[in-house]
Amino acid sequence: MTKIEMVDLKGQYLKIKDSIDAEMQKVIDSCSFINGTIVKTFETNLAKYLNVKHVISCGNGTDALQLSLMALGLKPNDEVITVDFTFAATSEAIALLKLKPVLVDVDYDNFNIDIESFKKAITNKTKAVIVVHLFGQCANMEAIKTIAKEHNIYIIEDTAQALGTDYIDKKGDTSKAGAIGDIGTTSFFPSKNLGCFGDGGAVFTNNDILAKKIRSLANHGMSKRYHYDHIGINSRLDSIQAAVLNVKLKHLDEYIDARKQAAEYYDSKLSVIKGVEIPKRTEYSSHSFHQYTLKITDKRDEVATKLREKGISCAVYYPIAIHSQKAYSKYNFDNNIFPNTNKLTETVLSLPIHTELSTEQQDYIVSSLIEILEKTYQFT
Ligand SMILES: *Cc1c(COP(=O)(O)O)cnc(C)c1O
Repeated sequence: MTKIEMVDLKGQYLKIKDSIDAEMQKVIDSCSFINGTIVKTFETNLAKYLNVKHVISCGNGTDALQLSLMALGLKPNDEVITVDFTFAATSEAIALLKLKPVLVDVDYDNFNIDIESFKKAITNKTKAVIVVHLFGQCANMEAIKTIAKEHNIYIIEDTAQALGTDYIDKKGDTSKAGAIGDIGTTSFFPSKNLGCFGDGGAVFTNNDILAKKIRSLANHGMSKRYHYDHIGINSRLDSIQAAVLNVKLKHLDEYIDARKQAAEYYDSKLSVIKGVEIPKRTEYSSHSFHQYTLKITDKRDEVATKLREKGISCAVYYPIAIHSQKAYSKYNFDNNIFPNTNKLTETVLSLPIHTELSTEQQDYIVSSLIEILEKTYQFT
């Protein structure tokens, strides 16, 4: 069997090559590479998909986070809560703006912000929380909204890994991830649920005032040509990326279904295997399976190495908690308040999951993993 990668962007592209190529060619023929009409069209289509009033595209998912924070008009040392167990972009955006990142632990079962830890971290300086919907599953937004409202805290949702995921409230009504808090952000990095052919990102909100400010901030803080109301940045989605995304957005639900099916197949084969825990679901979220993340209770790294020797890619998201990173040492985080994150960094292992994964490949992955686990655990 040829090597199985974490993603198969080539296979996904080939299925829609004709329409992608045609749309990209249109942009090239127009030579309208920046701010082309296609960018607006994509923003409108994504807004419709998410059922939000405003979508502002930008350069990448990290810029989207930074723009969101900038729009809130916070002061230096204002506190922004985010999770310890995630990609560095959330803490980074907070720290770059001279705000204070306040890290909290995650829930051991679903990898998302732990509600009790969130409550405990709130002080009178807390101005915002960046919730990350990790691996494709929403955090407990109703609980977060109740707490945030009580303490007057803005909610930013990082949906870089969860675009298209449905949040299900207690009444059974659904909203798209990122359309629940004050501001949502996402990334169109090629391997994300909706990926372009380079870098891209977007911010979404139902708040007219925030939307206007974010759009201005992403364009140097300009209100009208050469009139600057804010000190902004330059962050934009180019027309070629928008053309790609416009085609792929039509397939997003089908892509998510393919990921879900692959996840369910893994579940069916791995749920009773000793030494692994399959990803748990919650009642308040669908799961778009940006990652299929197992917990390997013992000798995770050894298992990962043996999988790779068999030509199966696998990955540890994330091997080091943010609070343990050198770059963040100046904040003197207390290692004792992150028991779940600390444990997860030692147990998580993500298997290949993408829109093109075949049953044959999954069977090979599963049988290899089971064989490895049996051998590995004999030595314990
Ligand atoms: C990918 C990712 C980002 C950053 O997106 P970029 O487009 O690479 O800047 C932010 N947050 C999370 C959770 C991500 O997975």
